[in-house]
Formats: sequence, C-alpha cells, structure tokens
Amino acid sequence: MTVTGGGLYKSTASLNGIKSGAFDLVKVLEKLTLRNDLMYTTMLTWSEVLPTRGLLRAKKAWCPICLEEWKTNEEPIYEPLLWFIKEVKVCAKHKIKLETSCPSCRNEIPIISRNTRHGYCTDCGHWLGKENNYFTKLDEEGYYLDLWKANVIGELLENMPSIKTFPDRSRIKNALKIAVEECTAGVANKFAEMANIPKSTFKSYFVNNLPSISRLLIISFCSGVTLNQFLITQLSKITFTVRLIHFKSDVEHIGNNRFPDGYIEKQLLNWANSLIYPPPSLREIALLIGCDRRLLYKNSPELSKIISQKYLDYISERSKERIENAKKRVVEAVNTLNSKGIYPSRRKVEDFLEMPGVIKEEAVRITWFEELKKINQEIKQS
Ligand SMILES: [Zn+2]
Ligand SMILES: [Zn+2]
Repeated sequence: MTVTGGGLYKSTASLNGIKSGAFDLVKVLEKLTLRNDLMYTTMLTWSEVLPTRGLLRAKKAWCPICLEEWKTNEEPIYEPLLWFIKEVKVCAKHKIKLETSCPSCRNEIPIISRNTRHGYCTDCGHWLGKENNYFTKLDEEGYYLDLWKANVIGELLENMPSIKTFPDRSRIKNALKIAVEECTAGVANKFAEMANIPKSTFKSYFVNNLPSISRLLIISFCSGVTLNQFLITQLSKITFTVRLIHFKSDVEHIGNNRFPDGYIEKQLLNWANSLIYPPPSLREIALLIGCDRRLLYKNSPELSKIISQKYLDYISERSKERIENAKKRVVEAVNTLNSKGIYPSRRKVEDFLEMPGVIKEEAVRITWFEELKKINQEIKQS
C-alpha cells in the first residue's frame, strides 16, 4: 500500500500531543492498515481519557512471528493498531519482544512513508517476518508487566467498536477515587507510593490532569483491574484490590543488573519507610528492583534488616490473628455441634468448619479441649 503526497508524511511530526495531529494520524493509520472500521476514529473519542501525548510510537514495531504466520496461512498482512501503541512492547500471543529495526539493514522504520508495504522494510524491502524457532520465549515472570500491558491494551482496542458510551474525564476521577478507597483505605499518598507516582502528580489526577497511558496502566495494575475495567466497566461491578507492581522489566534497561549509584539504597529507604500494607518481603522487593536479594543485603545491610523485620512482624501478626480466629470458630463449632446432639470430636469440628487439620495447631487444640471439658461437665451436672 502506498501513501502518496507529502502532506500525510508531515503530519507525523505533529502526532505527539496536539489533537489535530492525532486526527491526521488516525486517518493515516486507517489507510496504512486498510481497515476502515471505526477502530481508529474511536481513538479520537478516547482523547477525553487517554492523552494523545506518548500514546503512539514514532517508529514502527512488529511481531515477526505474527507476520510470518499470516504469510504462511495466506491471510492478509496488516499492522494491528496494537503495535502502534508505545506501551505495547511485546506480543502477548507469541511471548516475544516486538522488533523495532529491520533484521537486514538494521534501520528503524517510520510509521508513514511513501513506500510503505505491510510487513516489509521501507528502506531495503526486506521481509520482516521470521519463523517461531528463531526466538526464545520471554520469561513470564520477568516480563509479567509487559505481557499484562499488551493483553489489557489489546482487550481495550478489541472492545472499542462495541462500546456505546465513551468515558469522559470524570470517569478517571471516579474510578480512581474508588480504587484509592478500596486499595489503600482512602489514603491517596499511600496509593501514589505504591504506584510509584509522585504524590503531587497523583493528586492532580483528582483535579483536572489526565494520567498518561503508562501511568494509567500502572494504576490499573496496582488496583488489580484491567484497563477496560478501569475505563469502561460499570464501577459498581468492579472490585479493586491491591496488586504490588513488578518493576523488573522497567529496570532492565539499566542493563546487566548494574544500578546507578545510590539507586538501591534509595529504593530500600523508600520501602523501609513505606506504609504499604501488607509490607512486602525483602525477596519481593529484590524482585521488584530486579536484582538478587543478596545484593540488597550487601548494599544496605541495615535497611535490609529493617525491611525483613517489618515483614516478619507482619507474618507473626497475621498468624496470631489466624490462630485467634480459629480458636473463636472452634468454640462456636463445638457448641453448635453439641446443641445438635453431635459429639464435637476433632474430626467433626474440622469437617463442620471445613478447616481440615485446624485442631493440630497447639493453641487451637487447647481451646477445643477446654471447650470439650466444659461440655462434659455440663453433661455430668444435668
Ligand atoms: Zn506475535
Ligand atoms: Zn531494511
């Protein structure tokens, strides 16, 4: 497909930011991708909730396996809108990184050029597809966030044509308010900290500032929902739950696990002072930073100890709570069973509570035994 004339080409320069630029781009993309459905024009309507700045790539990216498969299956070769979205860095289907330079001439490929041909390099004409067996699949843990992003953006784009009412600015504020309410008990600072967004920036989202697509993704991720849920689904039907973010793939471009001076200390200091509940373990933090736990200890033994202790305190607190709760339920179960004329044996109590093995715990066993004694005494007395 050839796009003629210099006018379209010029419009790429303005594609970052201004709406008219975005509008031109939408038209261009329609032509490029030969898809005249409403998908691209709906992108425009989305400018209410998605800032166009930073939304689209300046240069092409593609999944070589997708291209190769279409060619092999003699399906039409096109370039899905998904590949134009900057935040999409991987193909979720094939679990590989999108490619951004021609395998033959190594050049990057402009989004719009006069001799664009789907699936081919505009400079040297080389085919951009490649067979599956050239690639090793991305490690799903390390690229969890990137794979998630590709999936949720893909889901949103797929849903676009069928969405009847488009979200407006108030949607972001409303969703954010409930997310903060449900995830961090209404404390916006705590949520901002969790999402790694400067507090003042985060607060501006409640006034009139739109989060960038990358921040919106992080917010959705941290509040345990998809982008589609955050923007579209009826708010009363969504449950927001804290999900700690995995920063590893963001950190990876620092390269070879070598971090800038003071980086690890700063991260650890933040976590040591963090109010996030439940507190993550040092192991989880190592995962978030993208390094080995031993490196954290080596860098800052004191801070590492504080963080570990916070986690251990939390664990012991939790186990106390759990035991107290189990004791209470055992007492109730013994009495309920007894009142029904069933002897509250260990087995019967555990079955009744659907908590197999709960009475094995010493503290719980003592409570159960005490309760049994009381019942036996009552039987004797009557
Ligand atoms: Zn693919
Ligand atoms: Zn090339």
